[in-house]
Amino acid sequence: MITPVLPTYARIDLEFERGEGCWLVTTDGRRFLDFTAGIAVNVLGHANPYLVEALTAQAQKLWHISNLFRIPEGERLARRLTEATFADTVFFTNSGAEALECAIKTARRYHHACGRERPRMITFEGAFHGRTIATIAAGGNAKYLEGFGPALDGFDQVPFGDLAAVEAALTPETGAILVEPIQGEGGVRVPSLDFLRGLRELCDAKGMLLVLDEVQSGVGRTGHLFFHEAAGIRPDIMSVAKGIGGGFPMGACLATEEAAKGMTLGTHGSTYGGNPLAMAVGNAVLDKVLEEGFLDRVRYASTLFRQRLAALKDRHPAVIADVRGEGLLLGLRAHVPAADLVVALRAEGMLVPGAGDNVVRLLPPLTVSDEDIAIACDKIDAACRRLEEDFQLPTVKGAAE
Ligand SMILES: *Cc1c(COP(=O)(O)O)cnc(C)c1O
Repeated sequence: MITPVLPTYARIDLEFERGEGCWLVTTDGRRFLDFTAGIAVNVLGHANPYLVEALTAQAQKLWHISNLFRIPEGERLARRLTEATFADTVFFTNSGAEALECAIKTARRYHHACGRERPRMITFEGAFHGRTIATIAAGGNAKYLEGFGPALDGFDQVPFGDLAAVEAALTPETGAILVEPIQGEGGVRVPSLDFLRGLRELCDAKGMLLVLDEVQSGVGRTGHLFFHEAAGIRPDIMSVAKGIGGGFPMGACLATEEAAKGMTLGTHGSTYGGNPLAMAVGNAVLDKVLEEGFLDRVRYASTLFRQRLAALKDRHPAVIADVRGEGLLLGLRAHVPAADLVVALRAEGMLVPGAGDNVVRLLPPLTVSDEDIAIACDKIDAACRRLEEDFQLPTVKGAAE
């Protein structure tokens, strides 16, 4: 039977009343450790006082005026983002998929502005770029394409991490490579940094644009402001969303001046994109993420968490196959069905999202404390023991007391 909310999600039957930092509290008073963080969105945790202040202060003044007028807070945020990154210019959106739409249009239009048509893009198996008609074609996941008519043409998909396959798939019409520097939804798959560098070199050699989707890996999530910095490369175009609004719906498409040269007056637009409420929150998020020591703290928390997770893997070898990821974009590949591990964790009072490749993601707010990491590890330990009992799995002798 149809429900008033279109039933495209299998929703977990929990009703939350409020949140604080890494914790969510249900209407009936139960507390959950939230390592979903709205799917890598709430980088500063729930109800962060600094963000609440920024949003409510703006809400008293002005919510929305459209892009027919100047929006000084947006100009400020764009300036700060360009100063902090490779980019010279920014288009603000309301979501990740829209940031990708803008990135795809910008790349296609670049070659058009150069007097040629090279609309095709190389994309990667296991990718996720959103749920619009263009982004499901770019992602190439058959499940997401089924029944939605002819897939938008222009995307040629190759195995992730395979530079030779990229070269082999190039055509005279290939104008760009679109890649997540770490596949999030695909299972926290981290490619070698040499693969990312190789893509950059290939783009330079062939006059193509490198388009990075940092919707999940960006805004401090990996311990770098953006993950491509770890490889020492610069993209031409980059889509950002999720963490950039700290929970307020917003995204952005960043580009160099050269890559953006086709995006002239009238070529793109959005009614809401970059509205004053979003820009006020976006600036406040950036205040904190750019604060001295913030990214060091993310890297420290990551090291601490990973050490404990490695010990848990040793203690529960029949449950945890692998610990992967960068910064606080972490994943546990499971030997049991990952969905069962998600359920077992929830029974212990911890919330995590799944991912492809039989992975459970661990995506705490970037402000997670050492204490909350310790609590998380206790809950993971307990969930593993629960699964070992349920599945009658072998345990490491003497290790689980
Ligand atoms: C979540 C995600 C998107 C889509 O973002 P929406 O805001 O859901 O449209 C795109 N790319 C990546 C890498 C993502 O993780």
